[in-house]
Amino acid sequence: DSEELAELLERIDGDGYPAYRRIEGRWVFPHFTLTVRRAQPDPYAPPSRVEVQIGDRSAGLPSDLWDTPDAARATSAHLLRRFAAALSGGPFTVDVGGPEILDRSSGRILDGAVTLCLALALPGRGRRIDGRAARRALTDLLPTAVDAVRGESIDLPAARRVVATVADAVALREMLPELGLIAFVADGAILPRRSGVSEEPMSTALPFRAPESMAVRVRLPYRGEVTGLGIPEGVTVVVGGGFHGKSTLVRAIERGVYDHLPGDGRELVVTRADAVKIRAEDGRSVTRLDLGAFLSTLPNGATTADFCTADASGSTSQAASIVEALEVGSRALLIDEDTAATNIMIRDARMRALVSAEHEPLTPLLDLIRSLWTDHGTSTIVVTGGTGDYLAVADHVVMMDAYQPREVTERARLLAGDRATEDDRIFPPVRARRPLAESIDAAIGGGRRRVRARGLDVVLLGEEEIDVRLIEQLVDPAQLVGVGLALAALGERGRLDGTRTLREALTGLAAEIAERGPSALAAGFPGDLAVPRMFEVAAALNRLRTLRIAD
Ligand code: ADP
Ligand code: MG
Repeated sequence: DSEELAELLERIDGDGYPAYRRIEGRWVFPHFTLTVRRAQPDPYAPPSRVEVQIGDRSAGLPSDLWDTPDAARATSAHLLRRFAAALSGGPFTVDVGGPEILDRSSGRILDGAVTLCLALALPGRGRRIDGRAARRALTDLLPTAVDAVRGESIDLPAARRVVATVADAVALREMLPELGLIAFVADGAILPRRSGVSEEPMSTALPFRAPESMAVRVRLPYRGEVTGLGIPEGVTVVVGGGFHGKSTLVRAIERGVYDHLPGDGRELVVTRADAVKIRAEDGRSVTRLDLGAFLSTLPNGATTADFCTADASGSTSQAASIVEALEVGSRALLIDEDTAATNIMIRDARMRALVSAEHEPLTPLLDLIRSLWTDHGTSTIVVTGGTGDYLAVADHVVMMDAYQPREVTERARLLAGDRATEDDRIFPPVRARRPLAESIDAAIGGGRRRVRARGLDVVLLGEEEIDVRLIEQLVDPAQLVGVGLALAALGERGRLDGTRTLREALTGLAAEIAERGPSALAAGFPGDLAVPRMFEVAAALNRLRTLRIAD
């Protein structure tokens, strides 16, 4: 029990680090069980992993804090923050995540029992064990921190606020299809962040307020009636002068696929779960993708129906991202001119006159965006300040004016006049690819332990680096680990056997995660992970340079 652990730690004081292996295993404390999964072999090795299990009685959490998966996810986020605060200054590290409330392996609640996973840098003096410090950490600090997350000491109203916030966001997201909306931005929302490197809300921001004509009223389970801007399905164009808040709006919308903590400002900025941010990303690889919608035969005669490149241009990379998002089932695309390639977005009348269609392999999104909606049911939100071309294809036009939205659809329609519909093209059906497991085997040979991540930048499968910096809806470093593990899982057990499409394989994996939680991905993996969306798993796979597709 815990007393034996305390004695053992005192006894190994001054020994070499290998003696720390004697604390591996389970230790019973009055209110919890501690499992030391793996003690580090030396002071410079990755920290040790420990797990705290608090039984439902000891945890003493009222059932409304965990009786649905969403409530459990919300309460886990709340408890992780309290736990980390109580442990601060000690040798423990807890993955609490950012303002997005994700399903993560570091904190889980099942039937009222709480499991917390953390890293511990086992203390030493040089290469010798500091048994006293280890005893203080494990048998004093840790039990105090556990007490801080038990029902008798937590701030119940604060915990219930997190549960209610998540429940409202989830309910709102589920309402969007019936309301015919892509996204909802509540009145009073705070969209801008303090800075480009902070996720804190800007304290001096002007709160959001929907224009009368696009205001939608919804009834939420906890907050009751809420009014906000409803962005309808179809094509919505966001216009406005520079610095008037266009990119800030679309950035908030792209993150609206996640739920946010109370106080974030974006609690009720909610976007359909299948929305995907699209951008240009020159230099990325593209593997056997049918780009025919955007790209006809190239000057060198190369076909574009089975397109490969190790170094895509801005326009091809953006076209590829659109086709890839559709391939795995997205029906809502978000595009900001700031990060788009102009030549895939538009071609103006003068250029159409000068370079006739048979000499121009590129079809701009402008000519395809109506067909995306009418033939594929795919909606688009496009931010544009510099060109009026999109006004003619928009169902709705929102102008950002000093951070406030106004609807200018009527005026835009008058200015745009009738569009020359002979420019409209049909977006052909997207061909579903069947990736092969060898894509992943080539990198890691099936071992989940060989998955790593570097911040928000790189997912590593063995030595193979996947550059994910520009996959903008990856927002939490733990998601990158989740993406790597999801790819490893796809490489196992014949999920990608050449008969399944990528979408089918991802749907199967998502179902398994929905049933078993993050542990569906974590088998044998020692670190922290957050469950990623399948769109980001696909996006990472699409950037894997060893990707192989079945014929
Ligand atoms: P645009 O894309 O239209 O050029 P941005 O969205 O980049 O404009 O916003 C320009 C600046 O205005 C940013 O620094 C942003 O943080 C700030 N900003 C955006 N929305 C608000 C707001 N509601 N209140 C205060 N500042 C804002
Ligand atoms: Mg902008």
